[in-house]
Amino acid sequence: MHAIQVSEHGGPEVLKYVDVPDPRIGPDQLLVDTQAIGINFIDTYIRTGRYPQDVPYIPGAEGTGVVTEVGANVSEFAVGDRVAWAAAPGSYAQKVAVNAAVAIAVPDGVEVAVAASALLQGMTAHYLIESIYKPEPGETVLVHAGAGGVGLILTQLATARGIRVITTVSSDDKETLSRAAGAAEVLRYGDDLANRVRKLTDGVGVAAVYDGVGASTFESSLASLRVRGTLALFGAASGPVPPFDIQRLGPAGSLSVTRPTLAHYIRDRAELTWRAGDVLGAIADGSLNIRIGGTYPLADAERAHRDLEGRKTTGSIVLLP
Ligand code: NDP
Repeated sequence: MHAIQVSEHGGPEVLKYVDVPDPRIGPDQLLVDTQAIGINFIDTYIRTGRYPQDVPYIPGAEGTGVVTEVGANVSEFAVGDRVAWAAAPGSYAQKVAVNAAVAIAVPDGVEVAVAASALLQGMTAHYLIESIYKPEPGETVLVHAGAGGVGLILTQLATARGIRVITTVSSDDKETLSRAAGAAEVLRYGDDLANRVRKLTDGVGVAAVYDGVGASTFESSLASLRVRGTLALFGAASGPVPPFDIQRLGPAGSLSVTRPTLAHYIRDRAELTWRAGDVLGAIADGSLNIRIGGTYPLADAERAHRDLEGRKTTGSIVLLP
C-alpha cells in the first residue's frame, strides 16, 4: 500500500510517500481501507520530534474508511461497515489497523471528508466546553484561532448554547468565517488584546479562555479572565508556553489553568461514544457544520503540513488516499 513515512524528525519535507507492506490486524482490531484522513496540528508536533515518537513511523491518527477485515474478538463491526476514528496511529495510509475500541460507526449522510476530520477536533471542542469549563448561557468566553479546525467547531457548539463567543484570527477572510460560525466579536492578536477583551465585557473579563495557540497568546489569555476564570491551554500552534510562576494565579483573580489532552477525555468506550455521538449527531441534524478548508492527495502531505503550519488553512483539512 501507499503511505506517508517519517524516517527522521524535521520539517514537512520529512513526510515521504512510500510503498510499505499492508498492516496486519490483531484479534481486537479492524482492517480499514481509508477513504479520507484527518490532518491535525498534533501531527506536526510529532513530526518535528517535539512530542516523543520513534522513527520510522507512519503519521496520523484520524480517518474514515470501509472495514475489510475483522479481528476474531470483534463483534460490534462487520466487513463493509463505514467507520471513523481519532486514535489509530499510522492513519496517513491507504490501509489502517484500527482498534475496534476506538472505531465509531459513521451515520448515513455524513460526507467522507467530514467523517474523516470531525471526530478529533469535534471531541476536543466537546470536552473543552462540556468537561473543562462548561459556561452558562449568557456568559462570555474567548476562543483563539477562531477560524481553525477546533475554533470553528467550538464557536458553533458554544453559540448554540447561548454563550457569547469572542474569537481571535489573523486575517479578514478568517474573520468572515469566524463570524459565520457565530462569534459575536472577532479580534486580531496583539499586545493590547486583553484590554480589548475587557472593554467588550464591561471591564470584567471572560469566564474562560480556550487557547490552542500557546506561546504568543498565553499572557493575554490570563489577563483576559474574570475573577475565578479558567484558562484551558489545549495546544501550542505558536510554540510551547515557557514555565511560569503558579503564585501569579492568586492576585490575578484566583484563576484556574489546565493543560488537557483529548486522550484523557475519551478514556473508555462510554465516554468516547458520548462525545462522538454528540458531534456526529449535531452534524447529521445540521446544527454543526464542519468546514473542509482543503483536501490534498495523500502524496502531498508535505504541502498540507506547510499550509497548516503557515496559517494558510481554515477549518479542517484532509488527505485523500
Ligand atoms: P488550526 O486549524 O486551529 O490551525 C492552527 C491555527 O492557529 C492557525 O490556522 C492560526 O490561525 C493559529 N496560529 C496562531 N499562531 C500561529 C503560529 N505561530 N503558527 C501557526 N498557527 C498559528 O489547528 P487544529 O484545529 O488542528 O488545532 C488547534 C490547536 O488545538 C492546536 O494547538 C492543536 O495542537 C490543539 N489540539 C489540542 C488537542 C488536545 O486535546 N489538547 C486536541 C486537538 C487539537 P490564525 O492565523 O487565525 O491565527
